[in-house]
Amino acid sequence: MVFEHAHFDDHERVVFVRDEDSGLKAIIAVHSTVLGPTIGGCRVRAYADSDEALTDVLKLSRGMTYKAAMADLPFGGAKSVILHDPRTPKSRAMLLAMGRAINNLGGMYTTAEDMGMEEDDLRIMRRTTPYVAGLPEDGLGVSPGPLTALGVYHGLRAAARHKLGKNSLRDVHVSVQGAGHVGGPLIESLAADGARITVADPDAGLAARMKADFGAEVVEPDAIYDVKADIFAPCAIGGTLNAATVARLDVGCVAGSANNQLGDDDAGRMMHEKGILYAPDYVINAGGLIKVSLDVMGMRHGRNLGEDAVKEKVVRIEDRTAEIFSLASKRGMRPEEAADHLARERIGKGKSAWAA
Ligand code: NAD
Repeated sequence: MVFEHAHFDDHERVVFVRDEDSGLKAIIAVHSTVLGPTIGGCRVRAYADSDEALTDVLKLSRGMTYKAAMADLPFGGAKSVILHDPRTPKSRAMLLAMGRAINNLGGMYTTAEDMGMEEDDLRIMRRTTPYVAGLPEDGLGVSPGPLTALGVYHGLRAAARHKLGKNSLRDVHVSVQGAGHVGGPLIESLAADGARITVADPDAGLAARMKADFGAEVVEPDAIYDVKADIFAPCAIGGTLNAATVARLDVGCVAGSANNQLGDDDAGRMMHEKGILYAPDYVINAGGLIKVSLDVMGMRHGRNLGEDAVKEKVVRIEDRTAEIFSLASKRGMRPEEAADHLARERIGKGKSAWAA
């Protein structure tokens, strides 16, 4: 049952989408429109069953509400998932049907790229709905990865200051898991600051490039948890922090881009007990969402808000992360609890404004 689902969390709307002709099976979860219409990527994944897809979309959608609230954006949170193996090509009919389903929400939900969804897929969806954003041709003409990396870099700076008493990342040792669209540009910024970098990526070519271009030391993917470093930056997949991996970590801070890094409830508690400072994922990885949001605002007002406006907002992630760390210290909370608290406070203020 949806209402009784452990992750239902008062979603405003959960739409189950089925189109028999194209075979489309999808779920659109709109968590909250309190702070504005919603934005959230469309994920394409070979879920084991519809329960797994529902759990994923509900968790991701709530996360988008909190991410937008903490980034001070006039948007709410939502997400959609298409139950389809991304290794099999998606049919045009399926994408057009998904676009129609999004369009039927009348602007309550704007979609964007996520795992398994390519830019060309979004271009097809755009034939049946205008509520698609984040394509390179929209707004700034840049992709979100480097802007997400910029926010993560500033999150790392806040962590280094709070935990290590350092005002710069010079000589700080950062172990980076994943050197893709976010990890790559993050490593570039770290190298420019004179940080020491260790990287792991199953894509041996990418890892080798990080070594050649930025002097990073390369380790095997599983060995990254055993690297003694100042900061561990998970920039690959979600859920890599769990009781087993946290037990192996010998670092002062964890700060990276991956969504839903805490694989289980114990991971955050264990890091706290070990004295590891955790920078909440959705706070420091909001750069991409900030870019897409400003694209949407730009499209609405028929003008491009400019790269500087986006960067200025992304850089503020450093102060916001510092604010979370000090609130957590003051109240004896874990940083992820402090972030949730602040996000709920912002959403609560929005609700009061609604009621007024
Ligand atoms: P990406 O696919 O470009 O890069 C991920 C990299 O991680 C790949 O190079 C992959 O080979 C590597 N990888 C996979 N498993 C690994 C493992 N076990 N150990 C080490 N490396 C591994 O993805 P991305 O766009 O760089 O995003 C990285 C993470 O950040 C994802 O979790 C994503 O959801 C999150 N995120 C990305 C953005 C964005 O703007 N791209 C925004 C917010 C959050």
